[in-house]
Amino acid sequence: MAGRGPIFHGFIQHFSDKAGGLTVDNFEGDVVDHYFISHAHSDHFKGLEQFQDILNDIRNNSVIYCTEETGSLILSIVGFDRDILAPKFRYKGANCSFTIKHRSSGFDTKVQFVPANHIPGSVMILLEDSQCKALYTGDFRFESYERSQVTINMETFLNNTNNINFLYLDVQFLDLLEEERCIYYPGKRLILEELEEVIHNETRKDGEFDDVHIDCSVLGWQEVAAYLAIQFDSPVGVSEEDPKKKLHKRIFDLLQYRTRLDHPDNSFVHVYSGDECPSCTDRTMRIRPSVMWTFHCEEEYNFRDRDTWLLEKDPEENPGFFNALYSFHCSDYELHRFMDKVKFSSRAEVCPINRPAGVEEMSNIEIKGNIRRLFRKYFRQQQDYGYKRRRFS
Ligand SMILES: [Zn+2]
Ligand SMILES: [Zn+2]
Repeated sequence: MAGRGPIFHGFIQHFSDKAGGLTVDNFEGDVVDHYFISHAHSDHFKGLEQFQDILNDIRNNSVIYCTEETGSLILSIVGFDRDILAPKFRYKGANCSFTIKHRSSGFDTKVQFVPANHIPGSVMILLEDSQCKALYTGDFRFESYERSQVTINMETFLNNTNNINFLYLDVQFLDLLEEERCIYYPGKRLILEELEEVIHNETRKDGEFDDVHIDCSVLGWQEVAAYLAIQFDSPVGVSEEDPKKKLHKRIFDLLQYRTRLDHPDNSFVHVYSGDECPSCTDRTMRIRPSVMWTFHCEEEYNFRDRDTWLLEKDPEENPGFFNALYSFHCSDYELHRFMDKVKFSSRAEVCPINRPAGVEEMSNIEIKGNIRRLFRKYFRQQQDYGYKRRRFS
């Protein structure tokens, strides 16, 4: 990811200071007793590969809390050693509460995991003691439009959680460029259904395309391939040469869909992690499921218009390449709705955990300032509409 260095270093105010320490989604700083991994994207376990040497030391007492799905995905990535990591993982369910004890101090920290609707195994993490409450969202999607079961669970969790002092927030698709507009896009399920319909039309007998390639360069986009493979009654083609074959297989297993790994050339839907997919031809429809591209377009998109959610990319230069509006992160609109539901304490702070898309030129300080200002304005607006005022430090 472009930008000027990471915005979040794994430190959670108040909680990381406890004796022995705790760190979230980062293995690069001083050694602590308690590590958390919110999900299996590599920017959320930075430094773990090198840290295996320390974990392997008999004197090391550190443990790593994550879901079993997250652990199993990490163990499928080249460079991660099952013999070292498996004894260190403390698997917790995605809807689970537990307590961690801090060495040689009277302090306990209560922990709650909440499904984050990001990739399989992803969770938000609530940390709590008698003095303080911090919610780390990790990467998440709050699909307010569809109100799926996972959204309802998240809403219930927010309703039941008062007095949050620190919110560590995924702002990947917060729109900091145009504060007056509110970018909206449909939920994942709707995009999948419409994608299916378009593919059906484009690959009919006299259609332009024979088969479909899904770009799976990001862990999680396999969901799209798995869904389409089921709908079109095809195995997902994964070439033997694919450098991430093991990881694809693991995530398909977690999605409870087993891929047939042989004969990828005969598969209607195929994926490949390298540069040149051996199964693609000039009659393959190639789909990149991502919304990142929308932040680099001059044109303003209105995503309520269904013609804009699947776009052919530079048809002259890249015939057959399409971008689909499929996101694992909250839209701008969903983030605002989420903020409306969080119950903050009277003195609360919002800390971004990533850089919003499209603002590569902004420094971290500018980003933090803009986010603070944006949400302050938003809360003032709410007050105008009769909502309860919340204060930010
Ligand atoms: Zn992620
Ligand atoms: Zn292909």
